[in-house]
Amino acid sequence: AKEQGKNQYQFFNGEMDRVVLQKTMIETALHEAIDNKQFTLFYQPQFDVQTGELIGMEALIRWIHPKLGVISPAMFIPIAEETGQIIAIGEWVIEEACRQIQIWNERHGRSLRMSVNISPKQFLKENFVEHIRAVLQQTQLLPDQLDLEITEGVAVFNEQYTIQKLQQLKQLGVHISIDDFGTGYSSLSYLRKFPIDRLKIAKPFIDGITEEKEDVAVVKAIIVLAKNLKLRVIAEGVETLQQLNILRSLQCDEIQGYVLGKPVPADLFTTLYIENQLP
Ligand code: C2E
Ligand code: CA
Ligand code: CA
Repeated sequence: AKEQGKNQYQFFNGEMDRVVLQKTMIETALHEAIDNKQFTLFYQPQFDVQTGELIGMEALIRWIHPKLGVISPAMFIPIAEETGQIIAIGEWVIEEACRQIQIWNERHGRSLRMSVNISPKQFLKENFVEHIRAVLQQTQLLPDQLDLEITEGVAVFNEQYTIQKLQQLKQLGVHISIDDFGTGYSSLSYLRKFPIDRLKIAKPFIDGITEEKEDVAVVKAIIVLAKNLKLRVIAEGVETLQQLNILRSLQCDEIQGYVLGKPVPADLFTTLYIENQLP
């Protein structure tokens, strides 16, 4: 038994080495990706459920590696977050997304809203608000056209700091959404204290609404909560018309998901959603 324990330990250690090695390789590759601009943004449309109107889009990063092809953010964002590379990547994402919405503004008027994912480390960086301010100034974008998607996770780190930063962002006039709402296991008390605009109901709840009455109850409760707090509410990861119809009947405000549109490159987004919306 002792011998076996030792083997298990060695195995575990070997696994750890492999994971560390893999991470180091990705970290190095990420450096090259930042330097050689191997990133691109895809955009997924967001719609008003009641009117069917396009209201905006979420920018989702893709890493196009010269040898490995497209690498999913689910794979590299957590590593970039750990190594701190998320700061450089995140700044590029904001700049690129703001540049793109300006292009769409010329065809569509200044009515669409661009949602950008902000990772906790990025949000907590001391010059974050300054960077947003600088980008808004450079692009002359209406602050109201920019929506920052943050997670409940920023609340646990230092609530006072987070509130202060959110207030500064609010003063700039940008929108704030809580991403993956309901999955963060945090207390709901922050909802009263944080100056936020929108809740994004996490996909796992949406997945269940056609089968599980418990999921319907949760989604219904989130929508009622949002309304009472005067927040907008969007459901993400909506894949079927059946889910869409339930969400409409529950008075959900907005929808994002494969059923209405997958994330696509900017050019395709223009053809599919911007040109189609012209009067
Ligand atoms: P997220 O912010 O929750 O984004 C939603 C994810 O669900 C996206 O995956 C999107 O492509 C996918 N999705 C949207 N609708 C559906 C649907 O109907 N069904 C299914 N199965 N999936 C759907 P993606 O693009 O792979 O991004 C994964 C995660 O990576 C994001 O989750 C976000 O946390 C992170 N991420 C993506 N881009 C960025 C970025 O620019 N910065 C940061 N910090 N994180 C990012
Ligand atoms: Ca998001
Ligand atoms: Ca999400």
